[in-house]
Amino acid sequence: MGRYVYDFAEGNKDQKDLLGGKGANLAEMTRLGLPVPPGFTITTEACRAYLADGREPDSLGEEIDRHLALLEQTMGRTLGDPDDPLLVSVRSGAKFSMPGMMDTVLNIGLNDRSVEGLVRQSGGNERFAWDSYRRLLSMFGETVLGVHKDAFEDEIDRLKAERGAGSDLDLTADDLRELTRAYERTIREHTGRDFPQDPREQLALAVRAVFDSWNTERATIYRRRERIPTDLGTAVNVGTMVFGNGGMDSGTGVAFTRDPATGAQGVYGDYLQNAQGEDVVAGIRNTVPLHDLETIDKACFDQLMDIMATLEHHYRDLCDIEFTIEHGKLWMLQTRVGKRTAQAAFRIAVELVDEGLIDMDEALQRVTGAQLATLMFPQFNSEHERHLLGRGMNASPGAAVGKAVFDSTTAAEWAARGEDVILVRRETNPDDLKGMVAATGILTSRGGKTSHAAVVARGMGRTCVCGAESLDVDVKARRFTTSDGTVVSEGDVISINGTTGEVWQGEVPVMASHVVRHFEGDTSTDEATVRAVARVMDHADKRRRLGVHANADTPDDAARARRFGAQGIGLCRTEHMFLGDRRELVEHFIIAETKEEHDAALDALLPLQRKDFLGIFEAMDGLPVTVRLIDPPLHEFLPDMTDLAVLVAHEDDAGQADSKHHKMLEAVKRMHEQNPMLGLRGVRLGIAMPGLFAMQTRAILEAAAERMTAGGDPRPEIMVPLVATAEEFELVRAEIEKVAAEVNEEAGFEVPYAVGTMIELPRAVLAADSIAKTAQFFSFGTNDLTQMTWGFSRDDVESSFFSAYLDKGIFPVSPFETLDRDGVGALVRYAVEKGRAVRPDLHLGVCGEHGGDPESIHFFDEVGLDYVSCSPFRVPVARLEAGRASA
Ligand code: PEP
Ligand code: MG
Repeated sequence: MGRYVYDFAEGNKDQKDLLGGKGANLAEMTRLGLPVPPGFTITTEACRAYLADGREPDSLGEEIDRHLALLEQTMGRTLGDPDDPLLVSVRSGAKFSMPGMMDTVLNIGLNDRSVEGLVRQSGGNERFAWDSYRRLLSMFGETVLGVHKDAFEDEIDRLKAERGAGSDLDLTADDLRELTRAYERTIREHTGRDFPQDPREQLALAVRAVFDSWNTERATIYRRRERIPTDLGTAVNVGTMVFGNGGMDSGTGVAFTRDPATGAQGVYGDYLQNAQGEDVVAGIRNTVPLHDLETIDKACFDQLMDIMATLEHHYRDLCDIEFTIEHGKLWMLQTRVGKRTAQAAFRIAVELVDEGLIDMDEALQRVTGAQLATLMFPQFNSEHERHLLGRGMNASPGAAVGKAVFDSTTAAEWAARGEDVILVRRETNPDDLKGMVAATGILTSRGGKTSHAAVVARGMGRTCVCGAESLDVDVKARRFTTSDGTVVSEGDVISINGTTGEVWQGEVPVMASHVVRHFEGDTSTDEATVRAVARVMDHADKRRRLGVHANADTPDDAARARRFGAQGIGLCRTEHMFLGDRRELVEHFIIAETKEEHDAALDALLPLQRKDFLGIFEAMDGLPVTVRLIDPPLHEFLPDMTDLAVLVAHEDDAGQADSKHHKMLEAVKRMHEQNPMLGLRGVRLGIAMPGLFAMQTRAILEAAAERMTAGGDPRPEIMVPLVATAEEFELVRAEIEKVAAEVNEEAGFEVPYAVGTMIELPRAVLAADSIAKTAQFFSFGTNDLTQMTWGFSRDDVESSFFSAYLDKGIFPVSPFETLDRDGVGALVRYAVEKGRAVRPDLHLGVCGEHGGDPESIHFFDEVGLDYVSCSPFRVPVARLEAGRASA
């Protein structure tokens, strides 16, 4: 039989599993000799047993009795004694803090008789005693007996109105006695029973209520959001009541050992005289700054400062505390390592290093990639003053303000004349790229976090909110309508928050990120936070085993990625280079009927591609650049089939048949696929359309040769997408080698290059050993690998059934966002082992969106990849997390 109750003097801060966070820290403070009101903790084990069996463990009541007797002995008072009552508080406290999610009952032990004892104890303070009793009734009534809190609020409001009282403080002792009676009646009416007068019964029921509060709806929802396991249970802390509301020599406060908003040194907090903690929370009266306590009660203030210094040294971190002063005596009610902003996290970590409390490895563990990411986004000021138009997915973080535009051409035109625009679309496709580049932000009403809009926006570091389904986007009419009927037309200013997914009407002021300016090489931002980030990043770089590359398709992106610390390009998506003006050339290639037409189209594309690569090699001189041969379905480059059919029909009707359009329509029909994601893409395209991959290879290698002639150091790696079999890869590799031999011959020197493949299909994973025989590297395309493994369309599911899956806990987070370790992760691990068994020096990386996701990065480190590749803006985050993974 387990033991379910521990005295505060018995535990310590490392027992959070058993005693909950609050209990473990109360025990720690007691051990440190700090003034903690004595008490005991009922363990999480007791809660788990209660929740599993539907009743308290047999021995629990007896154990509580024993600890209560001990407490009564220590305090020299008996619980609920009519003459001189001991009163206790009952507070929940799970392993992870769940602020306000679970229940607390104060003043247990008061009843119709002991309230008189409390009057005597307090030197005849009737008002205080009756105020305490009525608080017990309402708290107990609400949390233990399930009476709605409005029932009590109504009573106090009614009484205040009758007495003409502005605040609770204006009620007299008699008023409060009357209120107590009213509350007793309320309880009887709502529950059909009387408020239990037996103090021990009050205690037992309150403990049970705390156990039950673990499974309330709000607690369940909170846990899901914070990813706290559902089976931990909560501990229950029973502590001697101390009162901050017994006069002006009493009070209550909260304090932090440093500023949790900025991380600045120096204590920080609020104090409220003659009050209990709940008054502070309820904001009934205004608090004063903690420093005012020095004039109110210098002895307590000095003692508090000493205690805070002790706690910070002991926990080696920012602590937050709750305290109460009872007639000039200071009591510590709670402490814990405090929550803080991202900015404060970095600053505190390095300042604790400077103070000799922690080392840099620990500092690295005290910050996260997610925190760094928030420091890199521009941020909004004072959003709440605006009208919320709708909410979508937080697809690419940041804050963007601009005029709404509904097509790419307008976006580009308006941007060219210096206007900030937000491109609003139902969804985007590769054709919208021009507009996406020109826009400061992108808003779509359809699609999830791996939709085209989201992926491209993240790649560019462009703010994006996608899948804002309540917005009815009418591109033709150039406007969207919100669910409350607000119409936003072209030219109206909107603000989108890619960090929260919110869409606001009008212009919300934006603040630039100092951290980004620092990464960009701006040395004028010498803020404490920026200096702290730089030091932590240095250390992460020293520690990390994983390389960090970037996904980038343009020289500008490549250069930025390099400034952000990228050690190469892990994915250059060449299909992005075929849009805009070049689209027509691609069309020529697709609809070519003769070899001459076909070759002419490729010949026209070649110099353009070569120029693209030249710029990228230059930006990444001396570093590897992995160029992926063209991937997406070719029909994405062709006009829409319906539009074209209508056009042709009109032309025919008018007797103006245009053979080019007819030919195009034929080609579009021929290439139409029901399920393009599973169709003619990747390596299949290279095999089905001879010459295309050869042209791209030639462009890559000729650009490299040109760089070498100019004294540069290009490191091209050619990557074949969507391979499923070694045979496919072999065919393409042979073609690449043939072109390489030609280019070497023409250049008169050898151009170094590597050839490898993406692993994005389950079959490629299973065939990893045979593919590795000739592939020099693998790059895991975890976007497709996730899509193909789950059978989920990456473009559709996030806005369809995913929310149901998330709600039901089938997965805690989208597998497109954080790698699904058990499924897709197992495939990655398998391919790594199979591939390396055949080729021990096989170079391994990942270039799906997961390459920039903190949790996934830890997994990739664990399975032994050589590098991760992510969008330029994620590069610092990946460096940090890779460092954290190894430190
Ligand atoms: C992938 O599938 O993970 C990948 C990087 O390729 P794309 O996103 O271009 O399909
Ligand atoms: Mg892919």
